Amino acid sequence: MHVPKAELHLHIEGTLEPDLAFALAARNGVELPYADTEELRRAYLFEDLQSFLDLYYGLMAVLHTEADFEELADAYLARAAQQGVRHAEIFFDPQAHTARGVGIGTVIEGLGRALDRSVERHGVSTRLIMCFLRDESAESALATLDAAKPYLHRITGIGLDSAEVGHPPVKFREVYEAAAALGLRRVAHAGEEGPPEYITEALDVLGVERIDHGLRCVEDPVLVERLVRDRVPLTLCPLSNVRLRAVDVLESHPLPAMLSAGLMCTVNSDDPAYFGGYVGDTFHAVHEALGLGPEQLRELARNSFLASFLEDDEGLRERYLAEVAAYEFD
Ligand SMILES: [Zn+2]
Repeated sequence: MHVPKAELHLHIEGTLEPDLAFALAARNGVELPYADTEELRRAYLFEDLQSFLDLYYGLMAVLHTEADFEELADAYLARAAQQGVRHAEIFFDPQAHTARGVGIGTVIEGLGRALDRSVERHGVSTRLIMCFLRDESAESALATLDAAKPYLHRITGIGLDSAEVGHPPVKFREVYEAAAALGLRRVAHAGEEGPPEYITEALDVLGVERIDHGLRCVEDPVLVERLVRDRVPLTLCPLSNVRLRAVDVLESHPLPAMLSAGLMCTVNSDDPAYFGGYVGDTFHAVHEALGLGPEQLRELARNSFLASFLEDDEGLRERYLAEVAAYEFD
């Protein structure tokens, strides 16, 4: 679905398609445990979280050089543009790369090269958001922020991702305070598999401006009231929720009820190479499975730009919102 939209919840490592994985493996002399792209494609039809994580982290071994990260990001931006994305705020996980000996500068400069050309090549404006792996230690997150200091001109904000349960937001209070002092914007995954209390904690302790996922807020009416009142954006990822079994089937996703409740919802693709669709596909899927009509789809698109970290003085937000208002759904 081509309505103009911003993508606010997208892990660049989750855009690695089988063809590119094999091309990069060949270029870097990495042996993949799959005979060919067809066999790898079948592995993408994983059955549970652990098999997804094994595949996800295993395949990152093909990413080595700045050129690899540039190619990964450029391939995503090309695909996103075809799906109506006009602005993308892209997550990356430096610790997943530094842990296997790839320098943080290689990652950031490589991604940055693709982002620098994105408006010209794809018509997509961009921001980069550095995420910490919450199953790693708070010290590791602080060391990562420190290592990123020479590259802060390329980074708009920080986030928190990976396995949520047992790793509450408060664990990362110090690194969020340090990032705020550096002028970085703050988001965090919360309330995907973790309880609603993690959402409250991310707001109160980490000072986040958006909640990534936030699905489980629906279990706490007082929290919903607060999120509605304060217009806290939620970056929902319905296809991801189905593949990782946060909901049984897309037809039972609470998105329509969340919109009716007045929550500021956006829809996003999370790890699109693995979860069965990019964000235009996601818009199409929620239209089909949940019966969302033109006005709700337009609201989701409008919210995506309102919740973005575009600066007001750029004039881009107004331009994109005007495009959303003028868009004609079939
Ligand atoms: Zn995510």
